[in-house]
Amino acid sequence: MTGDGAKPGLATALVHHGYRPPEGFAAPQPGVHKASTVLFRDVAALRARDWRSRGGYTYGLHGTPTTFTLEERIATLEGGTHCVLAPSGLAAIALVNQALLDRGSEVVLPANVYGPSREMARHELARWGIGHRVYDPQDPDSLARAIGPATRLVWLEAPGSVTMEFPDLAALAAICRARGVTSALDNTWGAGIALRAFDHGIDIAMQALTKYPSGGGDVLMGSVVTRDATLHGKILLAHMHLGLGVGANDAELVLRGLSSLSLRYAAHDQAARELAAWFTTRREVVQVLHPALPGSPGHAHWARHCTAAAGLFSVLLDPVFSPEQVDVFVDSLRRFGIGYSWAGPMSLVVPYDLNAMRPEGHGLRSGHLVRFSIGLEDVADLQSDLDRALGLAFG
Ligand SMILES: *Cc1c(COP(=O)(O)O)cnc(C)c1O
Repeated sequence: MTGDGAKPGLATALVHHGYRPPEGFAAPQPGVHKASTVLFRDVAALRARDWRSRGGYTYGLHGTPTTFTLEERIATLEGGTHCVLAPSGLAAIALVNQALLDRGSEVVLPANVYGPSREMARHELARWGIGHRVYDPQDPDSLARAIGPATRLVWLEAPGSVTMEFPDLAALAAICRARGVTSALDNTWGAGIALRAFDHGIDIAMQALTKYPSGGGDVLMGSVVTRDATLHGKILLAHMHLGLGVGANDAELVLRGLSSLSLRYAAHDQAARELAAWFTTRREVVQVLHPALPGSPGHAHWARHCTAAAGLFSVLLDPVFSPEQVDVFVDSLRRFGIGYSWAGPMSLVVPYDLNAMRPEGHGLRSGHLVRFSIGLEDVADLQSDLDRALGLAFG
């Protein structure tokens, strides 16, 4: 612990934490505790125990010293006060929806929302009598128009994780606040590093811990952080009713990942910026979508809200090329795995059909979209691989 009373920086706060080891075993690493049953001293202690209080233990599903430690770490990371863990990022989204939406109410989603979140609204929420509306994240007036008397929740995402437009988050959050509607940010891209959700007036910060906090490409987990005890209470209640829990070994991997999160994020950021800048010089590419690049949609918003960027960007390849040539390009890459997710050590690539993803129009130049997640390899190796594959496919 710092001891000098000054508020530590985030990298320090992620290494020094409040976990209390068992008496006489002063290891700084949190223990991996596994349990379904937790024993009570007597019947009175069992009856007195309130599962909602983080001051003690009731049952493995409702928390262990390991998961409580991770919750505290993630709340610290996001700059919030309360955290609930879910078994995946998508489960964390479902948890927020379940906690805040009732039959007859509506949720509002950005047009570039994480795809499975929109599918959840179209199918599961619709079946429960919950409506959804879609807004253009680059146009705050479009959000103002989408909020109606039945709106209970607005999702924000910054940037869109495929099309990479960065919205004016503070303006969107202010609209939600003025209309008395809860705002929730999918902060997976910012990871608590690039972007402090609560500093911009947002009520809920959700993350797929699957991505940067884990960093290993080997864990699925999600988190929901708030600063508001009432809001947290609703989320915790839904969490308990739904029986969502996370495994101790997965919690252990995320706890381990957190202490190197700041360094890894900076390395992914640096490498992605180098490669994105290199792509702007290539004749095959009509546009590079990376919020830290001047000219990328919403760059000015990124500059006002963020101090860093994730290792994620997309390129639009010239529409004169055929879809088959694009597939040859992706298939020719040797240092990029073809697969979903991001933020692990291995660089990944996925081609997307922009028109199928965003049927209502996306305001981007036309072209074949290919998204890259830059891992932790040597940038020179990645660049020469890209150069070779571009030559093979389009040369
Ligand atoms: C990956 C991802 C999720 C879902 O996380 P899972 O753990 O894979 O369910 C949600 N939102 C965004 C932006 C993501 O990239």
